[in-house]
Amino acid sequence: MFPALLIEKTSEGAQNVSEQSLSDAQLPEGDVTVRVEWSTLNYKDALAITGKGPIVRSYPMVPGIDCAGTVETSSHPGLVAGQRVVLNGWGAGESHWGGLAERVRVPGDWLIPLPSALNARQAMALGTAGYTAMLCVRALIREGVTPKSGPIVVTGASGGVGSVALMLLSKLGYEVTAVTGHPEEEPVLRKLGASDILPRQTLLRMTRPLEKAQWAGAVDVAGGAVLAAICASMKYQGVVTACGLAAGMDFPATVAPFILRGVTLVGIDSVYCPKEERLAAWQQLADLIDPEKLNGILTEITLPDVKQAAADLLDGKIRGRILVRLA
Ligand code: NDP
Repeated sequence: MFPALLIEKTSEGAQNVSEQSLSDAQLPEGDVTVRVEWSTLNYKDALAITGKGPIVRSYPMVPGIDCAGTVETSSHPGLVAGQRVVLNGWGAGESHWGGLAERVRVPGDWLIPLPSALNARQAMALGTAGYTAMLCVRALIREGVTPKSGPIVVTGASGGVGSVALMLLSKLGYEVTAVTGHPEEEPVLRKLGASDILPRQTLLRMTRPLEKAQWAGAVDVAGGAVLAAICASMKYQGVVTACGLAAGMDFPATVAPFILRGVTLVGIDSVYCPKEERLAAWQQLADLIDPEKLNGILTEITLPDVKQAAADLLDGKIRGRILVRLA
């Protein structure tokens, strides 16, 4: 038996979330069973656990879109017992039981061997948020944005994706502007690598189709009016990577930045990202991340704390990354 968080639907259609003791026999199909050491709480997990977003596809569901640990049993040709692995995406915590449990069973093809420079705790300190930040930065580089191109703007800078994006971009030599709804976090954001802070409210006043051209690249976690303002204020041939919807699903923009400034909008999906790009992104994360800086943005909790933390995260009360200790 092992502990897990379980989301169930009641007969009235409501959602019930509780810690339960499950057995290996209840685990879903898969050729690899992993003993989970660390998981984390991502924005998507918070939506699933609070029921505030349509994340869970079938019930009962163990939430948790990512986790890291050690292979316990494997009939997969590429993985052996004792190997350290990380799981993120592929529907874990959405349509397949996920990582907020002491055991997961998944198809081995979903698992990434942990880069040697990262332990399981560090991998989950980064988690899907950090890996998504890396995908955004890799897309900027792929599209030709270099430190010489000009400053990069990062939205939701005090959140998971934003914090890691600040660290990665500054490590790579980019000048970074942090957009935040929490300007009091300025000292922390500067420590992570921001050279400039832009209050979210100031950005939201930028509502014209084209604003002053300021940035060569962008990492946007917000969507909505935030993304529209970012697109309107990109430099000529600037590149915007869009990965989130913290401000909303809508996109109240005009085509002006695209047809008059040649701006590129790149969509970022971490869930079904091809394996080759995943492997490269996790390796690059391991190479670039400063473990000390990463430690500075962590809060550690255990399974019984997860429900409250999920509500706090959606209420904007959380900064940085939340680690969930399983083992
Ligand atoms: P967090 O909750 O850790 O961070 C989100 C941050 O966004 C907050 O800390 C806040 O930062 C900012 N924010 C909150 N509300 C608003 C708002 N109304 N308008 C503008 N900014 C706001 O979440 P994550 O960093 O884990 O995820 C960020 C987004 O990225 C989420 O929407 C998530 O679903 C998405 N995501 C997408 C992935 C993909 O595969 N495409 C993978 C991972 C995440 P501040 O106060 O500093 O502004």
